[in-house]
Parts: sequence; structure tokens; C-alpha cells
Amino acid sequence: MTRKKLIAGNWKMNGSLAANAALLQAVADGLQQQQAAACDVAVAVPAAYLAQVQQLLAGTAIALGAQDVSEHSSGAFTGEISAAMLQEFGVCYALVGHSERRQYHGETDAVVAAKAQAALAAGMTPVVCIGETLAEREAGQTEAVVQRQLGAVLDTVGKDDVLRLVVAYEPVWAIGTGKTATPEQAQAVHAALRAQLVAAHPEAAGVRLLYGGSMNAANAASLLAQPDIDGGLIGGAALKAADFLQIIAAAAGDL
Ligand code: PEP
Repeated sequence: MTRKKLIAGNWKMNGSLAANAALLQAVADGLQQQQAAACDVAVAVPAAYLAQVQQLLAGTAIALGAQDVSEHSSGAFTGEISAAMLQEFGVCYALVGHSERRQYHGETDAVVAAKAQAALAAGMTPVVCIGETLAEREAGQTEAVVQRQLGAVLDTVGKDDVLRLVVAYEPVWAIGTGKTATPEQAQAVHAALRAQLVAAHPEAAGVRLLYGGSMNAANAASLLAQPDIDGGLIGGAALKAADFLQIIAAAAGDL
């Protein structure tokens, strides 16, 4: 089964009006030269910049993403942003359950599943982030942890919606640390996740499984060459146009 690769940048809490414009101009210009239509590209930006980035991305092949979405549809939830609000800004992808949200904001598997549902109901693609901590890996719990995290979402998604999910495997120990899972380590987890997806819904063989965790211009090609790695969720390297473009080129098979 062929799955179109997806390279999604996660800007986290970085950027400014001026920096966003410069970065996206450089990425959009580079993409035109690369003709990387073989690969989907997205950027998940801070909510404060959705309107600006929506305008900057008009006419480009880059899709707009959000870094979070509320599980609630409206009401007394100060600081939250609903799926319907994101949709008004043309958001296509919503990260849910990023490890920084789980760690610093106490998001549980159940909350993450509810957020994925909210995104789906509004017509967006949830990018469901899962991954084990270093202690969990060292205790031999990697598969159990990521399968529990993914299972919570799969339990609430019907077979008609499962192909609309994207899953991002991001070992917590590799995020922002410069430590990357080896291609073999990442592939082993992706294969286990693929098996879980297919066992839940045979159609789910087509779900894209991204790897995230210090993916960069130097290591992207070897990670993306693995049979069950269908793209990347990129933090730090998505803030540098040249690096992000090189990762996109690797995904598009241009390297
Ligand atoms: C991320 O934030 O999802 C991420 C993978 O970050 P980094 O690439 O910086 O490790």
C-alpha cells in the first residue's frame, strides 16, 4: 500500500509576525523549486498567528495546522479554542496529545481521544501524538504505552473515520533533545502500531504514521526510508527553512 508522505512542522511557542512571514516565504519559494508535490506539507502554528499564516499560505501547497484543539464545542472554557474556530481559519490538521500537552497540561488518553473526535467532527485531520518516556523504554514498556495511547483513540473512532487519522510516534526522550530513535527503533514501533491499526480496522493500513523526535536534514532520509514511516513531525528543524526543505525533499524522494 502506498501512503503519500506528510511532513508537518510543529512551531511550538515560537515565531513573530516578521519571523513567520520570512520563514514561510522561504519555504514556499523553496517548495516551488523542489516541485515536491509527491509529499504533503503542513505547519502547525501558535493559535495567535492562525489568521496571519492562513493569509501567508494562500496559493501555496502548504496546509495550515493547529497545535491543539479543545474537546469542548463552546462555552465557559477560558483560554480554549474550539474545532469550529480553527476551521474558520482554514485549519486542516490539529495536533492532539503532543507530549508537551500531556506532560505540562495533564492531558490524559481520554482527553486526547475527545480532542481527536472534536477535530474529526469539524472536518479536520487529527495528528494523534503518542510516545514513551525514557523510563518507560528502559522498563521495556514502549509498545504497551504507545498501544494504550493509540488504543484510546481507536476505541472512539469508527471505521469510516479511521483513515482520516494521522498518528505521530514521538518518543518523549527524542523530542528537542537531539537524540533520535534509530531508523530500526522507530520502524519497530511503527510496525507494532500498524499491526494495531489493522487489527482494529482493516482499512487502517492506509493511516499515515509519522515519526517525530529530533528529525533533521541529516537523519530524515534514513528514517523516511523505513516501510512504516510515512512522514515526520518536525519541531526545531521546522523553524529553519533550509532544514525543513531538505526534510521535505527527503520525503519526496528527491534526495
Ligand atoms: C515535536 O515537537 O513534535 C518535535 C518532534 O520536536 P523536535 O523535532 O524539536 O524534537
